[in-house]
Amino acid sequence: MILLGDELDLAVRARRIGSASRSWLKDLSKSRFNYWAAYAVDLCLPLLFAYLGWRRHPGWTSVVSSCAFGLFVFSFAEYVIHRWLLHNPKSIFYPLHEAHHNQPEAISAGLFPTSFLVLMPVWVLLTYGLHVGGASFFLCGFAAGNLYFDTLHHFEHTVRINQIPFRWLQGRWAAHSVHHKLDTTNYGVMTSLWDYVFGTHQRQAKRRAMQG
Ligand SMILES: [Zn+2]
Ligand SMILES: [Zn+2]
Repeated sequence: MILLGDELDLAVRARRIGSASRSWLKDLSKSRFNYWAAYAVDLCLPLLFAYLGWRRHPGWTSVVSSCAFGLFVFSFAEYVIHRWLLHNPKSIFYPLHEAHHNQPEAISAGLFPTSFLVLMPVWVLLTYGLHVGGASFFLCGFAAGNLYFDTLHHFEHTVRINQIPFRWLQGRWAAHSVHHKLDTTNYGVMTSLWDYVFGTHQRQAKRRAMQG
């Protein structure tokens, strides 16, 4: 496409406006305010869904089974998003995750209202088809999984593995540390279950590197 005169000027201006808004979003996503605002939203979401569900007085069996199923579905969603969205160079989220891999200790998070803006429409849709109590506690479990993910990932990059008290927790630290060395392995942060299922689990970084 050939652009002349005013058209060229307009194209240059549009590109400048586009890159200015992208850098504004990039700066916000790297800010301390956004990081903690995103954590605060993620902290409130399980409580909000528990409140919305509890008003319908579901039995304890429904509460526990819906929450457990939500947690299980989140663990799968976490694997899928991390492997096929965040590590896909064609994805718009790739640069943000690449920045995290380049500087693991730096503050970086998705824009803070995202989890609320995604999960509330899902709640509305689910409550049309399902019992409100069951749908709310399913999302309560899902959002609790997201909060657990945030917390675990935060401490994995701020606390050393030898300061971690439990062996199973040290395993999570080690697995994520391997992911930062070999980014085609260990996509699961909260569990290695889906890495075992899809064959991406790796115990140590050295072994795969020596094979390669
Ligand atoms: Zn990380
Ligand atoms: Zn990654």
